[in-house]
Amino acid sequence: MAPKTVLIVYAHHSPTSFNAAAKDVAVQTLTARGCKVIVSDLYAMGFHAVATEADIKGKLKNPEHFLYAEETFTAYKEDRLSDDIKEEHLKVAQADLIIFQFPLYWFSYPAIVKGWMERVLTRGFAYTLQNTYDNGLCKDKKAVLSFTTGAPETKFQPDGINGDVNVLLWPLQNGVLHFCGFQVLAPQIFWGPAHASPSERKAMLEAWQARLNGLLEEQPLSFASSKLFDLSVQAGARLRPEVKETYASQPYGLTTGQHLGKPLPPNNQTKSPPNDKH
Ligand SMILES: Cc1cc2nc3c(=O)[nH]c(=O)nc-3n(C[C@H](O)[C@H](O)[C@H](O)COP(=O)(O)OP(=O)(O)OC[C@H]3O[C@@H](n4cnc5c(N)ncnc54)[C@H](O)[C@@H]3O)c2cc1C
Repeated sequence: MAPKTVLIVYAHHSPTSFNAAAKDVAVQTLTARGCKVIVSDLYAMGFHAVATEADIKGKLKNPEHFLYAEETFTAYKEDRLSDDIKEEHLKVAQADLIIFQFPLYWFSYPAIVKGWMERVLTRGFAYTLQNTYDNGLCKDKKAVLSFTTGAPETKFQPDGINGDVNVLLWPLQNGVLHFCGFQVLAPQIFWGPAHASPSERKAMLEAWQARLNGLLEEQPLSFASSKLFDLSVQAGARLRPEVKETYASQPYGLTTGQHLGKPLPPNNQTKSPPNDKH
């Protein structure tokens, strides 16, 4: 089998952080398995996190009413995007798997990672209006969120004070990654490493190392297939009536997002199902 390429989009300021350790374990383990590993160390690169007109070289299509997605779509097709975006596009194009390694900030990605997504997952490159979800332009690639938290796992349980982590993960995994077509692998969550003992931290890194050995072969999480929706303008891309009918007798909704007013399917955004029907 041809060697796989893995891109690690890494965001932490400190090389002595737990995030740096998780990134280093990934580099070492995947390299030892024969993968080509590329790291985008966003803070070290001084990666620009804000989407602006500076991302486009040459004349704007409509300088009176600047629309980022429209202008970058045109600039992508005409090879007029800024050099830093083009460099990241080259890395993504090579990658079979992207690992996003970051500390959880305000229930989300740090701004520098969100900025990478806003600027690098360009319309025309990662998706088009016709190519989203199952047909997203990144559908042959896998992606995984690997992140640390400050809070313990109990706070992110369905009865915890922070709320169900599946709800937190839905916009990050469905709204960005699955939207672009990525096959999203179960997230790697390091719960509260700063409050863990040295032996617990060591065990967390060893578990990550063990998972990395089979990561590229893992089954992705379950999302509702685009085929289940009526994509006509009239229907407004809602679930087909027959699908809703099927789920009417089920105890759970379809996904965390398409919950149909029912209890959320347990672990929908944290574990890949053994028998994925969707
Ligand atoms: C703006 C902001 C918003 C935040 N929002 C949230 C939020 O919404 N929810 C939430 O839960 N948290 C939140 N946090 C907390 C944040 O997620 C945690 O502080 C962060 O995830 C901890 O990861 P770290 O890599 O920085 O840990 P570090 O503090 O760098 O590391 C933890 C421990 O691991 C040790 N370590 C380093 N390398 C190794 C190694 N090789 N082996 C063993 N141990 C090692 C370190 O020495 C340290 O003792 C927020 C923080 C900020 C700044």
